[in-house]
Amino acid sequence: MLEVKKQEIRKTGVLEYYAPQGQGLKGVGGLENVKTWVESRKIWFEQDLEPEMRPRAILLEGFPGCGKTFIARAIAQEWCMPQINFEISRLQSKFVGESESNTFQALRAIEASAPNILFMDEIEKAFSGTGSDTSGVILWVQGCPFRCPGCQNPDFLEFRINQVVTVDYVWQVFQQLPDLAGISFSGGEPFAQAVALAELANLVQSIGKTVVCWTGYRLEQLQSGHVRGADRLLQHVDLLIDGLFIQQQLSDNMLRGSHNQELHFLSGRITEADLKNIPRQEWIINDTLLTYTGFPIQGEAVEQQLL
Ligand code: SF4
Repeated sequence: MLEVKKQEIRKTGVLEYYAPQGQGLKGVGGLENVKTWVESRKIWFEQDLEPEMRPRAILLEGFPGCGKTFIARAIAQEWCMPQINFEISRLQSKFVGESESNTFQALRAIEASAPNILFMDEIEKAFSGTGSDTSGVILWVQGCPFRCPGCQNPDFLEFRINQVVTVDYVWQVFQQLPDLAGISFSGGEPFAQAVALAELANLVQSIGKTVVCWTGYRLEQLQSGHVRGADRLLQHVDLLIDGLFIQQQLSDNMLRGSHNQELHFLSGRITEADLKNIPRQEWIINDTLLTYTGFPIQGEAVEQQLL
């Protein structure tokens, strides 16, 4: 069984499997605080009584070669858990959709082999776009009149109450976030809430920041006067990405999921030259979930609960 798991892990091409063999923390010099902490938590791996008490994650930070990988391996050995190494840098691929597909397979294999210690090396490479001139915050809205097969955000399609917030609240939060170039609207369909978003977009632009918006409508439809509030929102959008997602036209074009979708630089405040190093994947890590989102993986949405 162990051998089968190992083979499944290795088949992904981005994961390595290590059985829990070795002398654990005895082979590590110094780091007494870390050793005490790790030893005090060992009990939660030996008993299956309260799995929620197991440590969720440890962040090891340091310069290259300072022993992060070594200590991670020692911790897995100490807790008698298999260790799976996930190398983010090996995910990138020049082929359309392959990076996303690799991610999806890796997440499946990791989940299937639980419990384990997942060691994510060079995690910063998953966030390579952060800090660029286009860094910003995304606001997902609830409700979309379209139903594109393979939509990446199926939970946002139904018109229902999700999290009700006022424009003023979002504006207050936005102002407290440091060093952002602007805000992006996604969903769901932002133009289904065009009046409120126009007000927010106006405020964002008033302090010199930019607004990016994805929509399933075509620009011409939004300009036709048939979508309530569209003209007002368009006045405050710097970059519009328009068009439905068409699964058969999967694309790795910048910021687009399918070839039919187009970029419209409406204000000139964002240009094509600004669109550099924008990742096609996003990882959100909290206490219990590692969530992957991004552009479509052969039409499949991925959200895996790993821990
Ligand atoms: S328009 Fe966008 S959010 Fe709406 S169904 Fe299509 S892909 Fe999903």
